[in-house]
Amino acid sequence: MLSLAFAAWCAVAPLPPPLAWNGKSRELIAKPDDRWITVAEKTGFHATPTYQQTVVWLKQLAAAAPEEGRDIWMVIVSRDRLFTPETLQRAARPTLFVQAGIHAGEIDGKDAGLMFLRELTVTGRWKALLDKANFLFVPIFNVDGHERASQYGRINQRGPDVTGWRTNAQNLNLNRDYTKVDTDEMRAMIAALDRWRPDLYMDIHVSDGSDYQYDVTFGWNAGAHSPQSTRWLNGTLEPSLRSALNAMGHIPGPLIPEDPVNGLTIVTLPPRFSNGYGDLRHIPSILVETHSLKPYEQRVLGTLVLLQSALQTLGLEGVALKRAEMYDRESRPDPVPVDWRVPKDSPTVEMMDFLGVESRTSPSAISGSTRIEYLGKPATRRLAVYRQNEVSLSIPRAKAYWIPAAWSSIADRLKMHGIAVDRISEARDVAVEMYRLDNPRLDAEPFEGHVRVAATPRLELRTERFPAGSYRVSTEQPLGDLAAVLLEPASSDSFLQWGFFHSIFQRTEYAEAYVTEPMAEQMLAEDPALKSEFDRRLATDEAFRASAEQRLNFFYSRTPFADSRWRLYPVARER
Ligand SMILES: [Zn+2]
Repeated sequence: MLSLAFAAWCAVAPLPPPLAWNGKSRELIAKPDDRWITVAEKTGFHATPTYQQTVVWLKQLAAAAPEEGRDIWMVIVSRDRLFTPETLQRAARPTLFVQAGIHAGEIDGKDAGLMFLRELTVTGRWKALLDKANFLFVPIFNVDGHERASQYGRINQRGPDVTGWRTNAQNLNLNRDYTKVDTDEMRAMIAALDRWRPDLYMDIHVSDGSDYQYDVTFGWNAGAHSPQSTRWLNGTLEPSLRSALNAMGHIPGPLIPEDPVNGLTIVTLPPRFSNGYGDLRHIPSILVETHSLKPYEQRVLGTLVLLQSALQTLGLEGVALKRAEMYDRESRPDPVPVDWRVPKDSPTVEMMDFLGVESRTSPSAISGSTRIEYLGKPATRRLAVYRQNEVSLSIPRAKAYWIPAAWSSIADRLKMHGIAVDRISEARDVAVEMYRLDNPRLDAEPFEGHVRVAATPRLELRTERFPAGSYRVSTEQPLGDLAAVLLEPASSDSFLQWGFFHSIFQRTEYAEAYVTEPMAEQMLAEDPALKSEFDRRLATDEAFRASAEQRLNFFYSRTPFADSRWRLYPVARER
C-alpha cells in the first residue's frame, strides 16, 4: 500500500533550483483591476485557462475589438477586417501564423498569445503593428490533450500548476503527424496553412532536457528546402528577436536538443515535425522552446516579447521575405534533397559561449550509471557548434509521379497537403522508372500508430499501363518537393516508410511442390550455370540447405509463374 507521506512527497517534482530573474517584461503584466487581465496574470502565473475559459475570453475580446474575427479556434487579427484567405492575400501585408499547445502541457504560447491579442486590440499598446502585418493565432492546437488536465502532466516543468498532456485523445503526437496526416487536428491545421498561406509560421513548445540560463530558445532547420527564406530567418529575424528579448530582460538562446557536453548541434528535423514541414512547403517556420525549468511567468513574458518582435519584424522586413518565399516556391531543385548531416571535415570550427548552469556528477546507486545535479549557478563555457546542413541523401527530380487508380487513398493523402493531383480519364502507357524494394525491414514495435518499414529501393525501367482513373502528380508545382519527399521510398517521411504500402510485401500466389519438383529437374538439366549456383547455395548456406521451402522457391522464383510484381512499389517516376 502507498503510504500517505510517500504520496505527498511524490506529488511535487524535485526540480533543480531556479535562477533569479527580474526582467523588464514584467511591465507588460496587466494591473489587477484591468478588465482584460488573463487567468495566468490574475493567478500570478500559477494557472492557465481551460479550453472553455479561453473561448469565452476570446469571444468577449472579439466583441470588444472590431479588428478581430474567429474561425473556431483560430483568431484572425487584421487592421482592415480581412477575414477570408482571399482578401487577406490580396492585401500585400505579410501574415504571422502562431500555434500554441501542439503539445498541450507546453502551453506558454496560449497565455502569451492572449496577452498579445489584448495589446493589439483593446489596449492599443501595439495596435500600430497591424498597419503592416496580420496575425493568425491558434491558442490551443491539441484541444483534447489540453483538457486532459492535471498536476502531473509535465514532470520536468516549472508551472503552471495544472497542465494538459502531450498527445491527443488517440495518444498520437501531433508533432509527428505533419506528413502522414492521420489526425483530424492535423488535417485541419494543414488545410489552414494551405488556405491562409502565412509568411511566417511559429510553433511554440516548452523544452525538457538539461539546465541552462537561456529562457527562450528558438530556431529552424540547418538544412533547408527553402534556402532564400532561411537566409532571411538567419540574417533578419534572428538578430531582431534576440535584441528584443535581451532588451526586455530575457536570455535568448539556440535550440538545445540535449545536454551539449561535446558541442551543440543545430539539427535538421524531418518534415513530420512542424518546422521541417513548413520549410518543405516553403513557409518559413520557427520552432520555439521556452526552457521548462524557468518559472511560468518568465516563460510567458519571454514568449510575449518574441511574438511582438516577430510581428514587428515581419511588418518592417516582410517585402524581402515575400520575395524570398516566391523564389523558393518557384525553384525546382534537381536532385531533391531528402536528408542532411553535419559536414565530415569542416575547415573551421564554429565556437560559442554557452550560457550553462553549474552541475556535479556522481555515481548513482539507483541507476547504476552517473547522476547529474544542477546547482542553480550560472556557468559559461566555450562550445563547438555543428550544423546539419550538408545534404546526405538526395533523389533525382522526377518529371511526375504516377499512382495507379487502385491506390486512390495515396492520392487523397497528397491532396490533403494541397498538392495538385491530376486524374486521367483514359488508360495510358507510360515510360517510367519503378522501384523494386529489396530486403524490407519492419520495425518490431508500432510508432505513432504505424509499423514503419525500411527497404532498399532498386530502379527498374518499365513501360507501365495506368488504367483510367489513375493519378499523375507533376513536380512542376510549388509543392513538388513535398510530393517527392512523400513518394520516394528512400525518404524517411515517405508514405512507404510510414507503412501505407505493406500489402506489396506479401507473397500471395504459390506453387505446389509436386509441380515445382519436375520443373526444377528440367531447369537443372538445361542450365549448368543455374546448377552450379544451386550447388553453391547448398554448400554455403545452412538455412537454405535445411529449408525445403527455400530450395523449392529457388526454382519457382525463376519461372514466369512467380509474381513479377512482388515488392514492386506501385508509384512510378515519369521519365
Ligand atoms: Zn513540445
